[in-house]
Amino acid sequence: MLQSLSTIALAASPLSSKNPFATDAYYVNPSYQKELDSSIATETDANIKKTLQSMRSVPSAYWIDKADKITGNTTDTLEGSLRDAASVRPAPLVVVIFYDLPNRDCDAKASNGEICCYTNADGSCDYGKSGDCADGLARYKSQYVDPFAAVLQQYHTTVPIAVIIEPDSLPNLATNAGNPHCGNSATRAAYTQGIAYAVTKLAAAAPSAALYLDAAHGGWLGWDNNAQSFAALVKSLNVATHLRGMSSNVANYQTLGVACPASAFANKLPLYCQQNKTDPCCADPCKMLSQWSSGNNELNYVQAMSNHLSSAIPGFKPKWVIDTGRDGAPEGRQSCSDWCNIRGAGVGALPTSNVPVPSVVDAYYWLKTPGESDGCTQQLPDGSQCARYDSMCASPDSIGTQGGEPRCPEAGLWFDYQIKQLAKNAHMGPSPPPSPALGAVAVSGRCATPAYAQCGGHGFGGSLCCPDEHVCEGGEALRLCMPTAEKQSRAGHNGLFATALEHARERLRRAAAEAA
Ligand code: BGC
Repeated sequence: MLQSLSTIALAASPLSSKNPFATDAYYVNPSYQKELDSSIATETDANIKKTLQSMRSVPSAYWIDKADKITGNTTDTLEGSLRDAASVRPAPLVVVIFYDLPNRDCDAKASNGEICCYTNADGSCDYGKSGDCADGLARYKSQYVDPFAAVLQQYHTTVPIAVIIEPDSLPNLATNAGNPHCGNSATRAAYTQGIAYAVTKLAAAAPSAALYLDAAHGGWLGWDNNAQSFAALVKSLNVATHLRGMSSNVANYQTLGVACPASAFANKLPLYCQQNKTDPCCADPCKMLSQWSSGNNELNYVQAMSNHLSSAIPGFKPKWVIDTGRDGAPEGRQSCSDWCNIRGAGVGALPTSNVPVPSVVDAYYWLKTPGESDGCTQQLPDGSQCARYDSMCASPDSIGTQGGEPRCPEAGLWFDYQIKQLAKNAHMGPSPPPSPALGAVAVSGRCATPAYAQCGGHGFGGSLCCPDEHVCEGGEALRLCMPTAEKQSRAGHNGLFATALEHARERLRRAAAEAA
């Protein structure tokens, strides 16, 4: 029986002080299911079709990338999604992306937005013009932030909500000031004043919503100087007390990897890895450690960046949401700085709060909606020219640059070819072991060399092999590499090990139940 809204208001303590992802109830937006359905209908390969079907029940974030997606009745809007979620008991967690700054996406073109500081004759933003961006900021506040806050205010006590704030914006200010589109006074004013206003406003209107400010990814801010410049910028906004934490890897493809132990960050991670070359947490597919970056994987990046943020802002211990929507396939880019519609990518770890370093990470989540384009090729699928063409979408790693590949649609539009590839290369199992420091823990994943054929079988789209001293456990839909009985009993005295193993088994049970 449905209870009335007033009787099921969420507990008095603000949700933002708890991990909102620590729930099994995540909102799956029917609008995303509709996008998937269009591709399921035309897929002829039985395995890919099955994976696409299983993805219908995977939650992903919904992007409010235009003011007209704030209010409305359909689940294409913030208001409609929250209303829909509120009709379910218990109300599931709704994750949305807050994304409409003036002069948005200043270092690229693919996701330039609708609000400009100054406008060219053709209506596009004049990114080169300096100034205080007063008009742009006024529009952002009155047409985007305030209405967004008003909708959250209506629902935050009945629906758990997580908001990811303005992907890429502060990282662009921190490291791309050399590009006048980012470094000029107008963009700077837009991002710093805009975000400070937004966070303050959202926190006041909806104290129960958990706010996460975006912090790019390890391939961008993994270097100490970049991380420090970013942390100083966050400090200067004076909003950390309102934040639950940060987000990373949004719309990127960085590997999640294995978390190095906290002690590895006491000095410098690259030094730890020089001394511990075989530690799996030091695997470095993008060759970051040799360049003195701590961003060899996202689980290390968020730990390193947390330390920088805590040093800059005493008392601030951010919790992270990491985008695992498209990092399921082993790193295969020719250049890890490529980001547009990467060929051969696969969907990654399913959204969960069951993560290896829960003192730092709140959750893995599909933040960039898998299957929505990162940006367009110069020519659109219908043959016309793309207005927001970015040359990075012609990188050798980008779909559309090899014979036989289709043209890519504008950022945010459904890309049938890409979702089918993401499903083909999917690896939705819980990727890394809960903690490498424990020595013997449950692991899953594809081996670099398929040497351990005893695992065989097919998980979500790929065969899974186990390293030495591990055996394969689990059913058709998902298999995990578990330590052998001998290894388990040797490590049995270690309570943490037992917990890690239990978590892995629980994930397996849940995945099997979902697949059934
Ligand atoms: C685009 C947005 C879109 C989002 C989700 C971003 O890259 O700029 O317009 O809503 O991706 O697909």
